[in-house]
Amino acid sequence: MSRWTNPEEWARLCSGEACVICRQGVPHDVIAELESCWVTMGEESPMQGYCCLVFRRHAVELHDLTPDEGAAFMHDIQRVSRILQSLTGAVKLNYEVHGNTLPHLHMHLFPRYVGDAFEGGPINPRAVKGPVYAPGECEALKQRVRAALAG
Ligand SMILES: [Zn+2]
Repeated sequence: MSRWTNPEEWARLCSGEACVICRQGVPHDVIAELESCWVTMGEESPMQGYCCLVFRRHAVELHDLTPDEGAAFMHDIQRVSRILQSLTGAVKLNYEVHGNTLPHLHMHLFPRYVGDAFEGGPINPRAVKGPVYAPGECEALKQRVRAALAG
């Protein structure tokens, strides 16, 4: 069942009127606020080092951004992906923009590792069973990401 099957609800989500992020003011698990977006990172992740970059104003599609907003968002994406690769030792970063259930522009950043559960293919977050972090590991990584963004 998709939210697309209810055109009125979908329109309210896309307009921002019923957007849960806009109603809360900020997304969950924010670890940093950059020029264009919030950086979120939490214990419940499909992959170690997973981050989500949530655009700070309500927008649905990348083409909804002004050229300056698009440039700022890309700059922030590059900053975070560079830091994630450095801190995690990822062999590749994966970038995903969907918004099929939450149409407030956000980009998922997945560090990929040799031998990860999805090696050679796309990530399926629904197939991840159990925590990907040992106790304290996520918090330590958050602090390192924050420090790198502040530096
Ligand atoms: Zn929104």
